[in-house]
Amino acid sequence: MHVLIPAAGSGSRMKAGRNKLLIELEGESLIFWTIKSVLSASLVSWVGIIGQPNDKQELLKSVKNFSNKIKWINGGDTRQKSVFNGLNSLPSTAEKVLIHDGARCLIGPDLINKCASELEQNDAVVLATKVTDTIKIVDNKGYIKETPNRQNLWAAQTPQGFLVKRLREAHEMAIEKNWTVTDDASLFEMLNWQVKIIEGNSANIKITSPLDLKIAKLFLKDF
Ligand code: C5P
Repeated sequence: MHVLIPAAGSGSRMKAGRNKLLIELEGESLIFWTIKSVLSASLVSWVGIIGQPNDKQELLKSVKNFSNKIKWINGGDTRQKSVFNGLNSLPSTAEKVLIHDGARCLIGPDLINKCASELEQNDAVVLATKVTDTIKIVDNKGYIKETPNRQNLWAAQTPQGFLVKRLREAHEMAIEKNWTVTDDASLFEMLNWQVKIIEGNSANIKITSPLDLKIAKLFLKDF
């Protein structure tokens, strides 16, 4: 299985003044922990890391233990563009791909393997968790407009897995139609293509804020 790791964000919500994936947790960078976990999944055979050219030296240095197992790909100014660059850098033999955010360093190899094997029966899969909070849709003045039925609400995470041919087609369509999305599954939904949900767990958070770093430290102690 081929895996692309978008790692080209600016991490502005972390307020660290640099790519949040370079922040150290338990003696290693955040991206180190993500790549370590991805490479330890038995079904993974190829890993591409998508980063900003400015961060290339530091990101690769922080994952140097794995340098012969990962390919560098230049990212774009949005996640969507970064993933598209990644798709265009896959070997021509790649039929399926998992996209996994560099910022989700608490993923375990079992869930990566689960996504990879579910992709045998589906064109698109997304790891997600059932929402436990009651979700409110709020207007731009800060007042609640609506409360959707919680029973059907899931929080999407990564990995998200796809047939390469279809995901590339979806991204090309998005460029043509000017669609902007924050995950890849959204493109499939916009095209009315089926996406299978795979139940994950709530430990697989996307490290976004300084509080998330504290949570990640606690979990990494058990790794
Ligand atoms: O910004 P956010 O945390 O939603 O980004 C999710 C993932 O996408 C992160 O791992 C980030 O590094 C990556 N990203 C990217 N290229 C961008 C923006 C974000 O690869 N231009």
